[in-house]
Amino acid sequence: MKAPLIAIACLALAACATAPDPQAPKVKVTPLGSHDGEFCPLDRALVFEDPDGTRVLYDPGRTVRGPNDPRLGRIDAVLLSHVHGDHLGDLIQPSANAGACPKPDFSVNVTPNSNFVNIAMGKQAPMIVGGEMHSFFQAKVQSLGGDPSKLVRLVRFGAQTMVGKVTVASVPAVHSNGLPPAFLPAEQAKMFAGGLTAYVGPPGGFVLRFSNGLTAYLSGDTGITAEQDLVVRGHYKANMVVMNIGGFPFTTGPTEAAYVVNDLVRPASVIASHANEPATVGGKLTPTSRTAAFQKAAKMPVHVPLSGKTMEFDGSGRCTAGC
Ligand SMILES: [Zn+2]
Repeated sequence: MKAPLIAIACLALAACATAPDPQAPKVKVTPLGSHDGEFCPLDRALVFEDPDGTRVLYDPGRTVRGPNDPRLGRIDAVLLSHVHGDHLGDLIQPSANAGACPKPDFSVNVTPNSNFVNIAMGKQAPMIVGGEMHSFFQAKVQSLGGDPSKLVRLVRFGAQTMVGKVTVASVPAVHSNGLPPAFLPAEQAKMFAGGLTAYVGPPGGFVLRFSNGLTAYLSGDTGITAEQDLVVRGHYKANMVVMNIGGFPFTTGPTEAAYVVNDLVRPASVIASHANEPATVGGKLTPTSRTAAFQKAAKMPVHVPLSGKTMEFDGSGRCTAGC
């Protein structure tokens, strides 16, 4: 009689161990895209909120409408993976939901400052960048009357910094990172003719470790890299991934991105990112979209970042609300 009783007790314990604890602290992730409730072509920006209240903005790009965008709230740090216009922010929308999801209206030019710099200055929140981007941003902040020592933090591969209780580590991305001359003052921009860009070091990704244990890998723009296995999983043990699925000709597409999450990082869940397509209509994923193809190919839940819709993640990397 004893054996079955023990088996039943163990089963009950195992159930207790795997059931999500509704009281456990959660990290809130809110996409700030071009159109409320949709996942649109240029959507990259996410706000992460630690249970301690720390709020970190990742790659504002074109869809955050400057530092006064009411969706931002308090921002404690702004992360940038690389300086291409769709991440640094060359253009922004004149108003909420301007244009249509397949073709948003980005008619407000914010060069040479950039949306990223304007937000960091407006919020007085440090920028966190790798490569050689820091010296460019220090000069930019100085020229705008800000304090570079307060507003620009360099974090190169292997290093990390703290924002509140959030650890921000820099990891490699394999992509390109030429600064478009539009972000330079006019006299300097003249030096770049014939399609040349300015060198600001390699692009990157990030691993964010939150106070509840959630460890999120933000891929940035990248192809498949060995570091996703050896560093992101091997060392940092990421349990959630924000994965670029944009595909040809820039980065991993759905098939490559599925390999990254299924075979290399192996997180509990994934947020699709950088789809370069209008992936949803009325908040519903289009079945023929590359986002849907990625969702099918991935072995773990893939969440669609609907603009303005907050998702909550527990310490094990699982979405517990809003997904
Ligand atoms: Zn990009």
